[in-house]
Amino acid sequence: MSTIADNIANVRQQIREAAQASGRPPEQVQLLAVSKTKPAGAVREAFACAQRDFGENYLQEALDKQVELADLAITWHFIGPIQSNKTRPIAEHFAWVHSVDRLKIAQRLSAQRPAHLPPLNICLQVNVSGEASKSGCSAAELPALAQAVSQLPNLRLRGLMAIPEPSDDLALLHQRFAAVRELQDSLNLGLDTLSMGMSQDLPVAIAEGATWVRIGTALFGARDYSSKA
Ligand SMILES: *Cc1c(COP(=O)(O)O)cnc(C)c1O
Repeated sequence: MSTIADNIANVRQQIREAAQASGRPPEQVQLLAVSKTKPAGAVREAFACAQRDFGENYLQEALDKQVELADLAITWHFIGPIQSNKTRPIAEHFAWVHSVDRLKIAQRLSAQRPAHLPPLNICLQVNVSGEASKSGCSAAELPALAQAVSQLPNLRLRGLMAIPEPSDDLALLHQRFAAVRELQDSLNLGLDTLSMGMSQDLPVAIAEGATWVRIGTALFGARDYSSKA
């Protein structure tokens, strides 16, 4: 069985190769380690390999892990669906949120961001898979949402996030990720972040401009959801 250290080395190598293959500087692509369902010990192991950014989907699980790992200088990213009654702890305990898809959530995050913390980094989640996906705003809704979010005082709008439908069709995946990049360009807001690419599709996402790849399985192994409701 490969260790987390081996996996991190492999994923870093994949990122370098994918970046070089598409003529991009590898340092433009950052690795977000997705630790949902994984124990604090796994995060600690990855941290020991100089991994600093971690992504979580489930709020309570993330807060518990943050307490256990309070001795480590981790940058925490929230990447899961957000209910409006859960925005306060997200505003208080994370540096990034990748999964904002409506204005009400952004307004609450801005209002609830503690004054002593820097602005909360925000990616807007956009649905580029049509009916195949339920989360994310539509391409049609995006310009107005981005404009409004960019005005909120305690948020810093950084870019877009997308999760295309899983597919073995490389051409389709290229098309999905390219659509995210084109949407970002068309906003003309000077955004610098494209959060796209997971364990299965990271090279394609990097070829189309990803700046964060969100990787879980390839670092920590398959997830076991049997203990979750
Ligand atoms: C779980 C998850 C990931 C990681 O997916 P893997 O396929 O395990 O790499 C990335 N992004 C989001 C939003 C996720 O929920």
